[in-house]
Amino acid sequence: MTMRIVEDPGSMSGLSARWRKQGERIGLVPTMGALHAGHASLIRRSRAENDRTVVSVFVNPTQFGPKEDFSAYPRPFSADTLCCRREGADALFHPSPEAMYPAGSASFVEVTGLSETLCGAVRPGHFRGVATVVLKLLNIVGPHRAYFGEKDFQQLVVIKRMARDLDLPVRITGCPTLREPDGLAMSSRNAYLPPAERAMAPAIHAALAWGAALSRQPLTPRTLLGRIRERLRAIPGASVDYVALVDPETLQPADALRPGLRLLTAVRLGRARLIDNVITS
Ligand code: AMP
Repeated sequence: MTMRIVEDPGSMSGLSARWRKQGERIGLVPTMGALHAGHASLIRRSRAENDRTVVSVFVNPTQFGPKEDFSAYPRPFSADTLCCRREGADALFHPSPEAMYPAGSASFVEVTGLSETLCGAVRPGHFRGVATVVLKLLNIVGPHRAYFGEKDFQQLVVIKRMARDLDLPVRITGCPTLREPDGLAMSSRNAYLPPAERAMAPAIHAALAWGAALSRQPLTPRTLLGRIRERLRAIPGASVDYVALVDPETLQPADALRPGLRLLTAVRLGRARLIDNVITS
């Protein structure tokens, strides 16, 4: 079956309206492109649970800060098209920034509280941009289900809360993080890592996995986080933005260790800012 490449939001809405009229269930996988096996796993999950799968590829300007990598973000569109075809997507939605944000666009979605902690504290406005573009994509495509990776855990929590608070008729599904064989979470930004930093990067997941195992000991969250921070700081060239242990729904700091908490970190390694998280068991 041929995959359609759609650039115009109106045409995308029309196509999914026709699918819905035929009684078909639609899954949406929002991405910024530079697709890798992590994205492919979301596409596969959507295909398994829906009749039609739409992958959006849009590098969203409103979620980048003025000093961030919007212009430098990789845009290998031919490879992304091949990946979507190979994974059996029905449509690739690839709008231009002008089509998504026509002149005079003035409306934004803010998920307060959840957006200001962790990555939001270091990237003001980031989650406002994410929530806004995801709501727009959901409105354009009108999927029954939408798929997000746990790799961006705070993003997943923000989107779930937005869907609940604004009564969106969509089910938000979180999918497990795909990793390289050495443990590094797959990410489009890993391409920024020069060989020396790439060699160090798996130590981030190793520190979190070690911390999750340590969380079964009778420690306070403060002591546990101190030990993990020490390990992260020992990675040559690394600077730790944050390491936190939080409730998986409120993102509030945990006051005692228990299974099911999220242990998250953001670490700068050279030019790249890498995030990762694990669950405590
Ligand atoms: P991005 O293109 O980086 O905005 O990511 C698009 C979607 O793919 C988001 O929901 C991400 O959480 C998800 N994703 C990115 N990397 C991974 C990964 N390694 N494993 C699973 N999902 C991922």
